[in-house]
Amino acid sequence: MATRVPDPGPVEGNLTPWGARSTPGERFRRGVTGACPRCGSHDVSDGFFTLKDACGSCSWTFEREEGYWLGSMVILMASVLFCFGVFLAIGIIAFWPDVAWTTLTYSGIVLNLLVPIVLYRWAKTAWLGLHVAFVPAELEQDHASRSGV
Ligand SMILES: [Zn+2]
Repeated sequence: MATRVPDPGPVEGNLTPWGARSTPGERFRRGVTGACPRCGSHDVSDGFFTLKDACGSCSWTFEREEGYWLGSMVILMASVLFCFGVFLAIGIIAFWPDVAWTTLTYSGIVLNLLVPIVLYRWAKTAWLGLHVAFVPAELEQDHASRSGV
């Protein structure tokens, strides 16, 4: 499998729209792998929980209007449900026929508290990737200037 390098970003004279530089699948994959969906750079985080204000490579701003990140919360909740379902299935199969329900319950509570914390930033890049896979025009937007930031 070929190693993909991040898009070098806007090069002087390169007038190709960002939406034409990648396929919807590439943009989605970039977001799900925690990279900038526009250029593929992993220089997107300020820490464990937060995205930078803009991509460190292509300067695409991650600031969005109020309510935009609701989609990432949906992805986060779906991830919690998925992880809990897998955990529960494995627990039941491992302990069958004497399933330790109390252990599974308390372990499941801890898991359901940890998964959203661990996946918080990932859910944001995944949501960005999913969004721009379907709305490539978003890649050309300069949210910073639009919102007056
Ligand atoms: Zn970028």
